[in-house]
Amino acid sequence: MLVRGIDLHLHSAASDGALTPTELVHRAREQGLQAIALTDHDTVDGLAEARRAAENCGIQLINGIELSCVWNGMTLHIVGLQIDPEAEAIRELTRLQQDNRLERAKVIADRLGKQNFGNVWDGVRQMLGPDRVPARPDFARYLVDKGYVDRIQQAFDSYLGAGKLGDVKQFWPSLEAVVKAIVESGGVAVIAHPMRYKQTTAKLRRLILEFKSYGGQAIEVAVANLDSGRIGLLTELCRQYDLYASCGSDFHMPGRPWQEIGRFPPLPAGLKPVWNLWAPQVCQG
Ligand code: AMP
Ligand code: MN
Ligand code: MN
Ligand code: MN
Repeated sequence: MLVRGIDLHLHSAASDGALTPTELVHRAREQGLQAIALTDHDTVDGLAEARRAAENCGIQLINGIELSCVWNGMTLHIVGLQIDPEAEAIRELTRLQQDNRLERAKVIADRLGKQNFGNVWDGVRQMLGPDRVPARPDFARYLVDKGYVDRIQQAFDSYLGAGKLGDVKQFWPSLEAVVKAIVESGGVAVIAHPMRYKQTTAKLRRLILEFKSYGGQAIEVAVANLDSGRIGLLTELCRQYDLYASCGSDFHMPGRPWQEIGRFPPLPAGLKPVWNLWAPQVCQG
C-alpha cells in the first residue's frame, strides 16, 4: 500500500502512542509526508512540541484531537481537526476528560482485580509512573506482562474490548457535547473509523444525521484495513450526506505494519477531501 502525503489521525506519547511528538513528526517526515494532524486521545498536550518539530523540519501540522464519547450505548471516537487548543470549549472538555479517565481507570482496575489479576491499580501505576492516567492499552499490557494473557489482542478480546468488563463507558460525555466543543473551538468534527463500531448501516445513517445536526462535517473514509466494499459504502454515505472525507492511519507505535504513518488506501475520486480546507496544495501521494 502506498504512503500518502497527508495523515490526519496519529497518536503520540501524550496519549497512548509510543513516540514523543518530536519523534512522531520526524517519522512522518522520513515517510515523505507533507502534512499531518496529531490527534491524541482527549488531550492537546502534545501539540506544542509537535508544532516546534514540524516547523523545524518543514512539515505542515494540523492541530487535532480524538475525543471519546458515548452514543446509543456505544463508545465512539470523534476526531477534531484544526481546533484552537487554547479555546475555552476544548480546554474545558479536555480537563473534564482527564478527570473522567482517572475515575474510569480506577473502575477498570477494580473490575479486573475482581477477576484475580492481582493488584491491578498498583501494578499499572508502577508500570506508567504517576503522571500518566492508565488507558485500556496499558491494562492490556499489564495483563500480558504479568502472564495473565499471552497477547495484547487477547486482552482486548477477553477483557477490554467493546462490551467486555473493561469497556467502561459511563464516564464519557455525549456525542452532542463533543461535536459542539470541537465546532466552538473552530475545528471540524470527523467521525473516526466509522466501520469499527460494527453497527448496521441503518444505525450508521442515524449516527451521521445526529452528528450533522450538532455541526459535524466529515467522516474518515481512507483508513487502513478496510475492504473495497466498506470503502464503497463510506463513499456513498459521504455523497448522500454531503460530508467531507478524511484519511488517516491511526498510528500508535512502530512495529505495527497495519497501522503505519501514511499507509492507507487512496481517497475515492469525487469526494471532498477535508484537508482542502487548510492544506489544498497537498497531494495524496
Ligand atoms: P481507551 O482510550 O482507554 O478507551 O482505550 C482505547 C484504545 O485502545 C484505542 O484507542 C486503541 O489504541 C486501543 N485498542 C482498542 N481496541 C483494541 C484492540 N482490539 N487491540 C489493540 N488495541 C486496541
Ligand atoms: Mn489509541
Ligand atoms: Mn479511535
Ligand atoms: Mn486513534
